[in-house]
Amino acid sequence: MSHSILRGGLREWESPLYQEAVGQFDRVADLIGLDENVAERLRVPQRSIMVTFPYRHDDYDEVGSLFGYRVQHLLSMGPTKGGIRYAPDVNLGEVAALAMLMTWKCAIVGLPFGGAKGGVRVDPTALSRSELQRVTRRYTTEIINFIGPNKDIPAPDMGTDEQVMGWIMDTYSQQVGYSVPAVVTGKPPALGGSVARREATGRGLVSLLPVAALQAGLATDGITVAIHGFGNVGRYAALAAQQGGAKVVAISDVSGGVFNGKGIDVADAMAWVDRNRSLEGYTGGGDRISNEEVFLTDAEVLMPCAIGGVITDANAGDINARLIMEGANGPTTLAADRILNDRGVVVVPDVLGNAGGVTVSYFEWVQDLQNYFWSETEIVGRLREIMSRAFDEVMSIAVVHKTDLRTAALIKGIRRVADAKLARGIFP
Ligand code: NAD
Repeated sequence: MSHSILRGGLREWESPLYQEAVGQFDRVADLIGLDENVAERLRVPQRSIMVTFPYRHDDYDEVGSLFGYRVQHLLSMGPTKGGIRYAPDVNLGEVAALAMLMTWKCAIVGLPFGGAKGGVRVDPTALSRSELQRVTRRYTTEIINFIGPNKDIPAPDMGTDEQVMGWIMDTYSQQVGYSVPAVVTGKPPALGGSVARREATGRGLVSLLPVAALQAGLATDGITVAIHGFGNVGRYAALAAQQGGAKVVAISDVSGGVFNGKGIDVADAMAWVDRNRSLEGYTGGGDRISNEEVFLTDAEVLMPCAIGGVITDANAGDINARLIMEGANGPTTLAADRILNDRGVVVVPDVLGNAGGVTVSYFEWVQDLQNYFWSETEIVGRLREIMSRAFDEVMSIAVVHKTDLRTAALIKGIRRVADAKLARGIFP
């Protein structure tokens, strides 16, 4: 780590994902000859908040204590925006890396936000609904001075959902004394949430399937797809892919996966998960497979939609898919990226592929601020338009720079942010 602010190591933010994010940034910064003063500011988050807080278990006498985080990578572009993750291994470095990715993502699709991310180190599946609510309300209270409709607007991520966003909105509103729907996105529509937000990330990803398949030399009719992760992103990506004429041959979640060469009935699998909380025991007329096997099927398209760091130098050489579309954040390591590139596999990177989520979150925020709500047709149309324009712009950069889509997307995002920072100058 030769660059000055990180000369002594990543320290507070030390984590594999943050290392990857900085490595990725440095590579692109060198490539475009980025002003070193600007680069120095973008390598580290502007604000990192770490809290610890107690919550009561359902057994009133038992009290647990948890770590919570909120990182705002960059405040120059407008309010900051990014999800809140509940997972047992969440840490400051992971959240910082994801906040940085959010900055590039918003800039790539042209949204007026800097990146942020938050998290609580807890396994949400081990909490009862009332415990989840108490954890959420106390975490919100701990970070309340840092969030707000003009400051920082959280959204769902792994382990959080519409209901959690509803509790955040209510807690914030209780504290200020009036309803503030725009403090958070991904809320239930009854609280000012946007229609089509729930499906947005998966749908946005799949809206790029025809153009990305063309780049990979694949015919879209009956194209086969394997999906890792069957939560919010994975299940709606699967549904949209199937509705678009693709054959979803493999899906998986934390409990393992299913393969059916004839195609899995996605709605049936979704109903199973709604009843049983996971895919455990589900076969869908096919065979149970492991999560690792999901990456190695003969599907033409692979969509990692669960966790980070799953496509590595250990499996990248064995992936048969010609096209990888990243729904998850950071699923591919830098080393794996190089292998996939050498093998001519087309990768639609996370910062472009999963930007549909934050795009419809932006629509939700705008609707809440205006108290004027759009129809589903308007939202889906505008989402498609933004995704497809961003893809075309990234493609043009890839052609000019003779580079892969990830590098091209990052060139676009980092340039936009650097231009804004230079135009603002330094205070005082
Ligand atoms: P989620 O909690 O709804 O679903 C996560 C899924 O991953 C579940 O099916 C879970 O069982 C599975 N999973 C967890 N650990 C796993 C493991 N070790 N192996 C295999 N599967 C595992 O989360 P989500 O909102 O769908 O987010 C998934 C990914 O997409 C995350 O990387 C998140 O940052 C990213 N993302 C989410 C959104 C959004 O709008 N929700 C937007 C952009 C990016």
